[in-house]
Amino acid sequence: MIIAGRLVSTKGVEPGQIRIEGEQIVEVGPRVGRADVEFGDDCLIFAGMGDIHIHARDDPSGTEAYKEDFCTASAAALNGGVVHVADMPNNPAAPIDDLSYCAKQELVKNRKVPVHITLYAGIGPQTRPLSFAVPYKVYMGPSVGDLYFTSLEQLDQALAQYRGANVSFHCEDPVLLEAHRGEPTHERRRPPACEISATRFALAMIEKYGLRGKLCHYSVGEGLPLIREARRRGLAVTCEVTPHHLFFDETQITDENRGRMQMNPPLRGLSDRAVLLAALRNGDLDYLATDHAPHTLEEKRNPAKCPSGQPHLDTYGPFVTWLMVERGFTPQRIAAVCSDNPGQFVNPFAGGLRFGRIEPGYTASLTVLNLARPTKITRENLKTKCGWSPFEGLTFPGSVEAVFVRGKQV
Ligand SMILES: [Zn+2]
Repeated sequence: MIIAGRLVSTKGVEPGQIRIEGEQIVEVGPRVGRADVEFGDDCLIFAGMGDIHIHARDDPSGTEAYKEDFCTASAAALNGGVVHVADMPNNPAAPIDDLSYCAKQELVKNRKVPVHITLYAGIGPQTRPLSFAVPYKVYMGPSVGDLYFTSLEQLDQALAQYRGANVSFHCEDPVLLEAHRGEPTHERRRPPACEISATRFALAMIEKYGLRGKLCHYSVGEGLPLIREARRRGLAVTCEVTPHHLFFDETQITDENRGRMQMNPPLRGLSDRAVLLAALRNGDLDYLATDHAPHTLEEKRNPAKCPSGQPHLDTYGPFVTWLMVERGFTPQRIAAVCSDNPGQFVNPFAGGLRFGRIEPGYTASLTVLNLARPTKITRENLKTKCGWSPFEGLTFPGSVEAVFVRGKQV
């Protein structure tokens, strides 16, 4: 099959053609043959986009499959133009050792979904590394689930076992969270100081144990100089940002939407939002990762035990067109934060699949965005089982035109 159109790489946009054989890209050039599929000038062809931070909430225990499972998460991902995802481990049956990780991997296999799913393994106070290479996730303080630490010393001891590993950090300092427990709002119970303190600690751990570190869902502008400085010193650290921290801030929280607008870390101030947008544009932040959390509206409406997080997979591609059309992101920068960087993150664990670039030898998964066909976000058009989006009623300037997964249009 030959696909033609405007091809986007981290270097720029070029008209060109892609020849696909089986599941792989075998040739890319200005003209490689007669095109089978041709996309017009309003469309941009990206290497398949990847969301490296989602919560599909499916596990062998089945406890939370009423919220989402790998099938509905995969459908939501494709709806949003996402061809691969990485799923977090804070499940009731958390993947923390060889046995529990393989059980979750077996479940993924049985679900037979087109979207490729990378699984994180959890690190808890008593865990040890797996016998094979996986990406790990650490919850520094209490969030959703039981997999967390109550002190930073306890975390230091645990990480000593994981020297050189790929570790992602949820940066909220458990001691400071505890100190703010009595505050009246979710935002004030988890203030910016928690993230700053946890960032310092995570960077120290990355340095001490030679980790390949990633900071998840970064939300505080004040923390970015710490990360820049750590990179200058040669630390291997990358950083995610979510659509909600780029699109919303705490001034938009009302009594009516408070539950739906609750997530960890919480929404921050207007200036944080502006700084994060600039940082994703200029290279301080590396990935657009959604932290997709498919809690039901019924759960989100219960102020006594409202779970944190928002669903974002269905709207990934339309949101990306907002970044380009409304916020001045170049196509090449989008290729970096949505395709290339996520691909580099998962490829070592992807069993031979290679995501992130339109180059010979890479997996033939593509995301085609149309910048001239707006998308109105409505509940009827969502595939997530939880059935809602914080963007409902909004119109994004572009849409997902087509998605190719391992050589086939889906
Ligand atoms: Zn998360």
